[in-house]
Amino acid sequence: MRRIMLGNEAIARGAYEAGVRVAVGYPGTPSSEIMEFLGRFDEIYSEWSVNEKVAMDVAIGASLGGVRAIVVMKHAGLNVASDPFYPICFMGVNGGLVLVSSDDVGAVSSPTEQDTRIYARLFHIPMLEPSDSQEAKDFTALAYRVSERFDTPVFLRTTNGVSHSMGVVRLGKRRETRLPAFEKTSPKFRPQGGVHPTVMHENAHRRLKRLEAFANRTRINRIEWGDRRVGIVSSASPYQSVKEILPEASFLKLGFTYPLPEALIREFAAQVKELYVVEELEPFIEDQIKAMGLQVRGQDLRSHGGPLSKEALRDGLAEVLRKLGKKRVRPRASQPGAIARFPTLCAGCLHLAVYYAIRRLQRGMKDREIVIMGDIGCYSLGIAAPHNMLSCAFAMGSGIGAAHGFSRAINGDRNKAILAYIGDSTFLHAGMPALLDAVYNQSSITVVIADNRTTAMTGGQEHAGTGVTLKGERHPPVHIVEICKALGVEDVHEVDPYDFERTLEALRQAIEFDGVSVVIPIQACRMFPKKLKEKPYRVLSDLCTGCGQCLNLYCPAIIVSDEKTAKGRQKAAIDPFLCVGCSFCAQICPVDAITCE
Ligand code: SF4
Ligand code: SF4
Repeated sequence: MRRIMLGNEAIARGAYEAGVRVAVGYPGTPSSEIMEFLGRFDEIYSEWSVNEKVAMDVAIGASLGGVRAIVVMKHAGLNVASDPFYPICFMGVNGGLVLVSSDDVGAVSSPTEQDTRIYARLFHIPMLEPSDSQEAKDFTALAYRVSERFDTPVFLRTTNGVSHSMGVVRLGKRRETRLPAFEKTSPKFRPQGGVHPTVMHENAHRRLKRLEAFANRTRINRIEWGDRRVGIVSSASPYQSVKEILPEASFLKLGFTYPLPEALIREFAAQVKELYVVEELEPFIEDQIKAMGLQVRGQDLRSHGGPLSKEALRDGLAEVLRKLGKKRVRPRASQPGAIARFPTLCAGCLHLAVYYAIRRLQRGMKDREIVIMGDIGCYSLGIAAPHNMLSCAFAMGSGIGAAHGFSRAINGDRNKAILAYIGDSTFLHAGMPALLDAVYNQSSITVVIADNRTTAMTGGQEHAGTGVTLKGERHPPVHIVEICKALGVEDVHEVDPYDFERTLEALRQAIEFDGVSVVIPIQACRMFPKKLKEKPYRVLSDLCTGCGQCLNLYCPAIIVSDEKTAKGRQKAAIDPFLCVGCSFCAQICPVDAITCE
């Protein structure tokens, strides 16, 4: 049977067919849907773990227990998971263990770009890279065979181009696997007490040699002969793009990208006039080919950052196109481009209300400057105009630690009030230890934990605070207020962010508190788990003075009307299709010109 599948769905299907029994992950674009699809299979235990390190620990435990396990995350999550992953790469596995790491090329939903392939070298483990949905399914199943045969975890790397594109996939049957039973005193999993780490290191290098021999033989690395004046080595989604632009060239298509198949590369290079590498991000393949002493071009023809669009490829490969007698096709000048806009929070989003309250507080605090260390979530959009609220946002849970460090740096300077701004999911992921650290080390900061009852940025996944598991089962949720108190925070304020005056007062008191204080504004995300919409508000144009207060909220539903006041100020209006009826703007209008009646 054949079905059209998203690359991420195909990976889940591949894991199902390979007989995987345990699936764990943490949401992150572009990987999130893999776990959501895995959660639909009754045969697979699946969970959103509290963070990627814990997910990795669970997957390792499942592998030791003798079943096939998959662990799923985005590139930034791999940094979190790397601590337990590094040793297990040297120790080996029991049941097959596959780590899917999806790189957000172009940083569509990430603070940075990262090339996971470099981790494969660091971890000394094999890497497979599919270039379409069929390969995504097939390579997942193959990864388990490689894992068990070579006694190693295996990397399956995708990028947005594969994760989020659709393709036809041939379905197979699930194969249950019989794996070695758990051996309680197996020496390989007990460094120092068992196999010495230096021996493990040696073993990892010997394993790489055997893996390289496999890479030279496997059919997922293949030569496609064409015009031998130009030979292109490529993999993953760049292969699809360059194949479309230069179908007549010769290709070495790599699906097994670490360790590289040196003999195959040499065979290909010897039979083409000029050798090129087409890859996204770092010159990972190119540098290794150069280290083999071969002449190759790649990095000098393209930029490091962002996805390799066809347009960028045509520019970069202009000289190759000429060599093959092809004309450079320019896009038609009349092609409409996207309008440049600031990224915006949704109408009625709780972060809009909290940011507005902080701005108002700042206006009233002439002697103190509020400095906010941000974190990773929708509220990271507050780093840019028009909000300009956050001074940094670099890693999950890091805002609280950064705020603590900043407060130490200014050494009690009362001219500054230091805030950390974090969401509920991120707090549970990595914010708790940082909060404990700040309390224990007697910091003086205010932590805003904006609780929108979901992991909104990645598409509304559940977490330990929502009371629903990935499988849809209900469990008692953890309470962030109680966690903060248990961590030693003495000043905790829970507020409804749509209640402007109370939010303002809670923030004021928290900032005045000498020590660590926490403000928790709670309002469900307007988009997840279901779209929330109340009766829309409207502006009574007769009363509107055009003061602009409501526009300073930056709610996308509030727009400038065509009507002007006698003094020539433009009045406000509300788009009824966008307004979700949160009521916040009605509370801040000084002349009560906003109503829902
Ligand atoms: S805050 Fe009120 S008076 Fe001011 S522009 Fe908005 S609707 Fe008009
Ligand atoms: S009530 Fe006001 S602030 Fe809330 S969504 Fe509607 S326009 Fe925006």
